[in-house]
Amino acid sequence: MIAIVGGGMSGLALGRELVRRGCECVVLEAGDRPGGVVRSERAGGLLLENGPQRARLTVPFAALVDELGLRESLILAPEDLDFFVYRNGSLRRVPLSVRGLLASDAVSWRGKLRAMLEPLTRGARDSERVADFFSRKLGRELYEHVVGPLYGGLYGTDPGEMIVGLSLGGLLRDMGIGRSLVLARLRAGGVGPPPACSFAEGMESLPRALARDLGDRVRLDSPVRAIEPRPGGWSVVLDDETLPADAVVLAVPAPVAARLLRKIAPDASSRIGGLRYNPLAVVHLRADTRLRGIGFQVSLAEPRTLRGVTFSHCLFGGEGGRRDRTGLYTAYLGDPSRASPAGTRPMGDPVRSPGFSAHTDEVLGTLAADEFRRCTGYAAEPLAVARPAMPAWDTSWSALRGLRLPAGVHITANWESRPGLAGRFARARGLAADALRAPPA
Ligand SMILES: Cc1cc2nc3c(=O)[nH]c(=O)nc-3n(C[C@H](O)[C@H](O)[C@H](O)COP(=O)(O)OP(=O)(O)OC[C@H]3O[C@@H](n4cnc5c(N)ncnc54)[C@H](O)[C@@H]3O)c2cc1C
Repeated sequence: MIAIVGGGMSGLALGRELVRRGCECVVLEAGDRPGGVVRSERAGGLLLENGPQRARLTVPFAALVDELGLRESLILAPEDLDFFVYRNGSLRRVPLSVRGLLASDAVSWRGKLRAMLEPLTRGARDSERVADFFSRKLGRELYEHVVGPLYGGLYGTDPGEMIVGLSLGGLLRDMGIGRSLVLARLRAGGVGPPPACSFAEGMESLPRALARDLGDRVRLDSPVRAIEPRPGGWSVVLDDETLPADAVVLAVPAPVAARLLRKIAPDASSRIGGLRYNPLAVVHLRADTRLRGIGFQVSLAEPRTLRGVTFSHCLFGGEGGRRDRTGLYTAYLGDPSRASPAGTRPMGDPVRSPGFSAHTDEVLGTLAADEFRRCTGYAAEPLAVARPAMPAWDTSWSALRGLRLPAGVHITANWESRPGLAGRFARARGLAADALRAPPA
């Protein structure tokens, strides 16, 4: 029996892989619903996503959708949507193709010419900062206004605080990118990433379906309080019972993993406990305009607490069919004290934004609406606020080098391997196939 602690996407994906391989498991989830940060809710007829907005419809993901019986509710985002950056007082279109970028006013001609030298520059070095890597390859301007906000926005982290070997390097390897980003893009022959997709009732349909499939192997309202050694395995301590397990997999946020490992693996516990998370405020806004596109990111040179906005009505809102003009936007506010590129700009307004914990939802909603109006010119009304935290994948991740866990204890989590949903499923497949084949403790 394998005990999986945590019923977010990491734990559920692993549960599914283990069951497929004929291995018995139980998924212990502290909360009253599966899915962790994947959380969709309805408000006034609008579907709000507090976690991921979309997944990529890769071949393995499409197979999963079919196996879970979700094909009928699958929605694909239109493929012709552009992306924007906010820079110098206006939104600028950034087509995600080399040719399109050449025609865009998001960067100057000087910046475009500089970017064209990219194939002549050296490939990534594991030890360099992500900001230095992108600036060295593409030039400071393209980095600061386009690539930096796009990449850093995934984590809510300043790329100046990220190290290639600890974060970006894995992505480059997985995408088969060697020396040149531009040549890799051209080699793809204009073929973009697989389409973005979601479900009629939102992304939470996915963990719900996974949990349904796992049946009573998923136990909700079951917080794990401790893990203790026992002869030949582990005891998993819940509030009112103790479960024996051959192996334990931690699929929980890093602070929880650090707490559970404190007694059985003190060194691992203190390394994991030092990983930084970025607070994030997700603010849903309604506006009387339906801007068309994927959304926008804010240039790193702009002193805004707003880091990006997704045009949610455009992605999966059936944009063609609607008669009214109501647009649904998802705004992401970054923590002013953590998200600024080192020494390059003041972040936000320190009086209004000393960090999120001190602020009510009402204050954050007003702040997001103000920032939205400044960037787009349109008034917006806040609908709801969520406050997830994102693993920063910054320099603090160097503590994980040489991490050792006791035999029979494993980790699958968005702070341990690629955080995106595709990464969570890939890690589940790898862990189920390899590590758990090893004899138990
Ligand atoms: C705002 C946001 C937007 C995102 N957007 C995208 C996107 O568009 N596309 C994409 O691919 N990815 C996206 N991601 C990333 C992706 O959604 C997450 O990395 C992934 O869902 C995390 O899953 P997880 O299971 O590792 O962690 P979590 O979702 O954090 O799950 C951990 C689970 O452990 C449980 N737990 C905690 N303590 C205990 C305990 N003691 N005992 C038992 N259970 C416990 C928690 O209740 C929780 O359910 C986004 C993430 C966020 C936050």
